Amino acid sequence: MDESPSTPSPANAGMVIIGGGLTAATAAETLRKEGWGGAVTILAEEDEIPYQRPPLSKGFLAGKEGEDALLPLPASWYPENNVTVLTGTAATALNPQAHTVTLSDGRTLPYAKVLIATGAAPRRIPFPGVDLKGVYTFRTKSDSLAMKELFTGGGKNVVMIGSGWIGMEIAATATELGNHVALMGLEDVPLSAAIGAELGTVFADRHKEAGVRFELPASAAEIQGTDGVATSVLTTTGVTLPADIVIVAVGVVPNIALAQAAGLTINNGIEVTASLQTSAADVFAAGDVANAMHPFTGAFARSEHWANAIASGKVAAKSMLGQEAVLDDIPYFYTDQFDLGMEYSGFGALTRDAETVVRGSLETREFIAFWVLDGRVVAGMNVNIWDVQDAIKELISSRRIVDMARLADPQTPLEAL
Ligand SMILES: Cc1cc2nc3c(=O)[nH]c(=O)nc-3n(C[C@H](O)[C@H](O)[C@H](O)COP(=O)(O)OP(=O)(O)OC[C@H]3O[C@@H](n4cnc5c(N)ncnc54)[C@H](O)[C@@H]3O)c2cc1C
Repeated sequence: MDESPSTPSPANAGMVIIGGGLTAATAAETLRKEGWGGAVTILAEEDEIPYQRPPLSKGFLAGKEGEDALLPLPASWYPENNVTVLTGTAATALNPQAHTVTLSDGRTLPYAKVLIATGAAPRRIPFPGVDLKGVYTFRTKSDSLAMKELFTGGGKNVVMIGSGWIGMEIAATATELGNHVALMGLEDVPLSAAIGAELGTVFADRHKEAGVRFELPASAAEIQGTDGVATSVLTTTGVTLPADIVIVAVGVVPNIALAQAAGLTINNGIEVTASLQTSAADVFAAGDVANAMHPFTGAFARSEHWANAIASGKVAAKSMLGQEAVLDDIPYFYTDQFDLGMEYSGFGALTRDAETVVRGSLETREFIAFWVLDGRVVAGMNVNIWDVQDAIKELISSRRIVDMARLADPQTPLEAL
């Protein structure tokens, strides 16, 4: 906790939320639900009211879902609940001592409590040629709209640099829209850093069936172009991949600049307690930007997932109101790629030394995979099997020792383990 003297906030100062994503929307909604009657202001750098990102690489990109799928709260909710959203307005400075935020339009806003929910931004790697026209990153609604226009009609050569969740999802959607996708990444098998090579192969095989070409392991040695426009990517393994569109999807970095300049403790994001309190009084952080102490593991973890934006937005709002609230959810995320639907719960950091147990069939792509450490389930992932997440989370949170044979046996109900 910052022990430096801080000016008490002005009596009429309200709650300020910096960031216009799902975390911000959830926090604003929770403040109202929990009875906060004072001012709530959301500062949203993008020219958009708060929206959620998962559909951007899936249904919205494919043209199967409209704008409504992006909105966690309808546009009418904000005026109806007297929540001010300043779109196109960034916070440029935070002064925890004075309890003020400086806005990009030059104004200064006092706050009683402030939440930093600035999210994350695509990691940028200075590949030669990265500034050519036709090279993109993918994070925002406008990125998705631009890509939708390029993908629609098909026939484009798309080179994806990055073999993580976002790269794989965009590759699937681009392929479904009739484009030719080549994907490279540093792993031998895509997604193996997250779920291991055996399970990553299930996703890779589905992509291969649909025609996705993999160049693995490889990175981009150079993005080549003519007249300032990207035309191909030369991989570090010496392969030239023709490209109309190059997408760099090599992970994200938390948007910490504001917090860092304000002197908050930074540690792989903004370091926060389990109640999402930063090192400065009355300053909270949640969502992709926050590295929170998790009570279950006793370790800091920064989650870059949708469910965490919701869970942490709720906890942050309650903490801002002085309630006892702790972010102790078991981390959860999901993905959809072609006809593979997947949900995952658990502690990725604990899976590194864990044994993998599969219940069901990798061949038919209907299975649950468990990661077991010292006899206890620390993570579970269901693929094309549904309504098992509650049971998986219960297995993890109970910390009970499980029988491996029964865990692998589809006839044994998860609740009976
Ligand atoms: C394409 C895509 C697909 C995804 N799919 C999935 C999925 O299937 N499953 C899943 O679990 N997760 C998914 N995610 C991850 C999930 O969307 C994120 O975890 C979530 O968006 C985090 O929400 P957030 O509000 O913390 O941050 P963000 O969504 O990043 O929002 C932060 C906002 O704050 C704004 N901002 C930054 N700095 C400032 C400032 N100084 N002043 C004002 N505003 C500022 C940013 O412009 C941004 O609009 C996906 C992400 C992407 C990009």
